Amino acid sequence: MANTKKGILLGAVADDMTGATDLCNTLVARGMRTIQMIGLPGPRDAVPDADAVVVALKSRNLPAADAVRISKRARSWLEKAGAKQFFFKYCSTFDSTDDGNIGPVGDALLKATGGDLTTYCPAFPAAGRSVYNGHLFVGDQLISKTGMRNHPLTPMRDPDLVSVLDRQVTGDVGLVPFDVVNRGPKAIAKAFDQQRANGIRHVIVDAITEKHLIDLGLAGAGLKLMTGGSGAAMGLPDAFRKAGHLGAGKTAAKLPRAKGLSAVIAGSCSVATLGQIEHMKNERPVFYVDAAELADNPGLATDAVRWAKGQMTDGPVLIYVSAKPAQVRKVQKRLGRDAAGELVENALGSVAKGLVKAGVGRLVVAGGETSGAVVSSLGIKALRIGGEIDPGVPWTYATGKTNLHLALKSGNFGQANFFTRAFEVLE
Ligand code: ADP
Repeated sequence: MANTKKGILLGAVADDMTGATDLCNTLVARGMRTIQMIGLPGPRDAVPDADAVVVALKSRNLPAADAVRISKRARSWLEKAGAKQFFFKYCSTFDSTDDGNIGPVGDALLKATGGDLTTYCPAFPAAGRSVYNGHLFVGDQLISKTGMRNHPLTPMRDPDLVSVLDRQVTGDVGLVPFDVVNRGPKAIAKAFDQQRANGIRHVIVDAITEKHLIDLGLAGAGLKLMTGGSGAAMGLPDAFRKAGHLGAGKTAAKLPRAKGLSAVIAGSCSVATLGQIEHMKNERPVFYVDAAELADNPGLATDAVRWAKGQMTDGPVLIYVSAKPAQVRKVQKRLGRDAAGELVENALGSVAKGLVKAGVGRLVVAGGETSGAVVSSLGIKALRIGGEIDPGVPWTYATGKTNLHLALKSGNFGQANFFTRAFEVLE
């Protein structure tokens, strides 16, 4: 059943692409039909038939003013699309600097919604992220003791999220601590009222278990804006259901029937992907595009597509450029790191175009950047999110003209047999 109100229920803005998919996954698993839009939608982009729309931006590392500007534009589009509540999604490690972008974007979106209080909660128990007394833990360590301490762009050296956020927003930052959260939705909602009475607009919420996150969603039903990792959105579908806006959503993950030939494109050099390539070599025909050769022979992408046309009739094929670190370094040394990446990504983008033209209707792509290149080369603007293949990797359906099923796999995700299993799951 579609939602019982016209337009979408939830409008979310995510600060990066894989984070957006993560949030979509959470919402679909809890019964919301969800669309991920890639980049800022334009005024003429149609409103998808969905319960939730997640706009995937690339705003995490932009200057704060730019992140604020595009996030506000995305929210305003979502409001016009009918959204009743808004969510700002960032990483469960609270990736940000003292200048932003979580605080400035949260503040600006809160003002734009006309709301008087918003919540911040990066907890994600399945991945070991919890917030206790306002402090962010990864497993049993404070975030400041983990590798995030030395993150090249957003080093997290202060685990006290109240202080971190305090440096990013105007006005005081409040905390709803564990003992309140543990008492359930009513207690949490009452704490929001107390914070409001003290003039506090930005509130960190403790959460250790999934129950805490679900209770947070229920307590936040009256809030215009909530923010957090994908975990903080866990309770939102239930809150919409409780308010009578959403059905059981048993078919939320249903995609149109898959048609056409099957192929895999790999541009990730991560350990998991290299293993998946080795596995595929024993199962199905594979074609290796040598990145070094690509520099001298741009026709190699066309050769790969021509080869695939003769091989795809009885099952999936793999075209890959992925190589071991020493080989990658050699190419990077010759061409420069960015130029090598761009050369490879452009080639794989044109392979994807060629494959779709040749009748591919089910495509698996390995690699985050590679996925971005493929999606942009195919001109895809929105994905309907389906069921998971492996944790964190759903099948999606490119809405619009393409009639294409796509699985976009971040490099290190998926089991060894991912490239064959993905197509079996789709049947
Ligand atoms: P992951 O998700 O594993 O990080 P990405 O696709 O995000 O994978 O990143 C891999 C990068 O490596 C891409 O920019 C891709 O173009 C580049 N790349 C892949 N194979 C090679 C290669 N053989 N030589 C040089 N660069 C490569």
